[in-house]
Amino acid sequence: MRATVIHGPHDIRIEEAPDPVVRNATDAVVRVVSACICGSDLWAYRGVASRTAGQRIGHEFLGIVEAVGSEVRDLRPGDFVVAPFVWSDGTCDYCREGLQTSCPQGGFWGEVGSDGGQGEAVRVPFADGTLVKLPKETADEEKLLPSLLALSDVMSTGHHAALAARVRPGATVAVVGDGA
Ligand SMILES: [Zn+2]
Repeated sequence: MRATVIHGPHDIRIEEAPDPVVRNATDAVVRVVSACICGSDLWAYRGVASRTAGQRIGHEFLGIVEAVGSEVRDLRPGDFVVAPFVWSDGTCDYCREGLQTSCPQGGFWGEVGSDGGQGEAVRVPFADGTLVKLPKETADEEKLLPSLLALSDVMSTGHHAALAARVRPGATVAVVGDGA
């Protein structure tokens, strides 16, 4: 399959990469329908955040489940899913508290040895804890895909912040750390 690979600042290439396969019983393989470039991908692109040459890149994607491991319970081939910007087991104390980015078994798309979101397919560790199912029929609604893609990172980050700050309708708030 083809995927983006970062070799250094200002040097991202589309290259041939191994087709992902189910490696662990909790994995799924997802065929990417839509992916995008996050502001934090640009940190690596500009050299502000360092990457090991040859790392994959991209962490926001929508896709169709193609295969699941024997221990995956909630997903099956054909499901349309959105991937959050980290994978997580969904079962530990952190995950149950909604702090999936602190999951001890979790990780970031594109870290060394893992697939990035900007590729034709992705091996998803802990698929049950990571992927969120979307209504199947929305996969064919091309105009809706950019909005669904925003659920992977942009919307969920703001939503988490609003919940953590206990924001209520009508409240006046300051937004700190607007990222991109
Ligand atoms: Zn966890």
